[in-house]
Amino acid sequence: MDDTILSCDVFIVGAGPVGLSVAAALPDDLATVIVHQDREIGLPVRTSGACWMQDVARLGIPDGLFKPMRRNEVFSDKEQALLELGDEIPVILDTPKLY
Ligand SMILES: Cc1cc2nc3c(=O)[nH]c(=O)nc-3n(C[C@H](O)[C@H](O)[C@H](O)COP(=O)(O)OP(=O)(O)OC[C@H]3O[C@@H](n4cnc5c(N)ncnc54)[C@H](O)[C@@H]3O)c2cc1C
Repeated sequence: MDDTILSCDVFIVGAGPVGLSVAAALPDDLATVIVHQDREIGLPVRTSGACWMQDVARLGIPDGLFKPMRRNEVFSDKEQALLELGDEIPVILDTPKLY
């Protein structure tokens, strides 16, 4: 067993979206930030492709890799609902092409 003792200003467990967002938002004047990840960052990929238009635009994801949802129709055996979506437009990413 490795007995090395590490010292740091901030220690973050997990390099998922939350851990990496926290690390990116920390002040620049911290001397040492450690993000501890128990396996390869980003794997396994956990997304079915749902995202928001504003994030797609912010990330510069090219047209053709996502499809905006303007409305949502939900069906059951006896009922049907139509949901008109507002200004915050959800998108479905083409996840394999995007990666
Ligand atoms: C099947 C599925 C589909 C999804 N589809 C979408 C989608 O389309 N759009 C969307 O926005 N969200 C989607 N989500 C939700 C999204 O994946 C989560 O909201 C997001 O991953 C949560 O981020 P997180 O950083 O909190 O946790 P995680 O992504 O789980 O990250 C935690 C990280 O910590 C690591 N870790 C855990 N324990 C330790 C430890 N003891 N030591 C070191 N490292 C550790 C793990 O390996 C992992 O990488 C989906 C989730 C699932 C399961």
